[in-house]
Amino acid sequence: MDLEKISYKRVIENLHDGLYFVDRDRTITYWNKAAEQISGFAANEVVGKSCSDNILTHIDSEGNSLCMGMCPLAETIADGKPREAEVYMHHKNGHRIPVSIRVSTLADENGDTIGGIELFTDISHQAANELRVKELEKMTLLDDLTQLANRNFIEREIQSRFEEKKRFNISFGILFIDIDHFKKFNDTYGHDTGDKVLKYVADSFAANARPFDVYGRWGGEEFIGIIRNINETDLEAMGNRVRSLIENSYVIHQNEKLSVSISIGATLVKEDDSIESIIKRADILLYKSKKTGRNVLTIG
Ligand code: GH3
Ligand code: MG
Ligand code: MG
Repeated sequence: MDLEKISYKRVIENLHDGLYFVDRDRTITYWNKAAEQISGFAANEVVGKSCSDNILTHIDSEGNSLCMGMCPLAETIADGKPREAEVYMHHKNGHRIPVSIRVSTLADENGDTIGGIELFTDISHQAANELRVKELEKMTLLDDLTQLANRNFIEREIQSRFEEKKRFNISFGILFIDIDHFKKFNDTYGHDTGDKVLKYVADSFAANARPFDVYGRWGGEEFIGIIRNINETDLEAMGNRVRSLIENSYVIHQNEKLSVSISIGATLVKEDDSIESIIKRADILLYKSKKTGRNVLTIG
């Protein structure tokens, strides 16, 4: 019997979830270690106090206090029904922590309710992750494989560059980039190795871009760089620099160094350009680079 009591106590003490007991007046009678860690309050600071005594002061997501009347713990003590809720508890340092709570009644040997139990789990990381996923879903602007901007993102970005040019007369340029002989690469080394190449090519763009330039995946093995506030000479130099970086990058596949090259069509925005016309021009210049032997940049 005693042994049983001791082992229960140990289990409760070592729970990852916060746990506390209250009597019928909601005076805290027990507070475990996880409760100390999550809330910042030590057991000796809270045991013997009422939970509404500026200690936990749970609120809902609208900021309404749950201590006056609507407290799930008080409701459960009154009607005997277990409850679950997501609320915000007060941390000793002042901030609010989102917690998922489960409450039930505490009964004596005769089955009479002598108080309540609340088990609470810190869900702050869960809340942050859910928010992040929602934001990404809302945006759907990233390419899965390369984590670069996708086509949708690129189009929006070019639109913003046009607006910037109209309002502030800031020029921009486009690099239309295509991996050379990539079909042959896939056929020779397999699609998975091809994917690795797409990733490192994308990472090279991202790592070497200025913070205000954007590189994105236009589709397949085609990429677009949107280069802000630049003249023709610098656009050409920048394009040739990434071309050379890619030429000198590689993956190891079965002890062999594999690399690819890229061809580029580069052009600066012109007076009457639209998204379609600037991309079309860059695409034609890219085609010229392919015709002149690949691993080449053509500007125009
Ligand atoms: P070129 O030098 O004229 O550009 O020749 P290419 O073989 O690169 O051009 P082509 O358009 O004939 O072939 C593009 C290849 O890119 C075909 C396809 O297998 C490959 N590719 C497109 N998307 C992906 C992808 O997501 N992963 C892999 N591994 N390969 C892809
Ligand atoms: Mg292509
Ligand atoms: Mg290609």
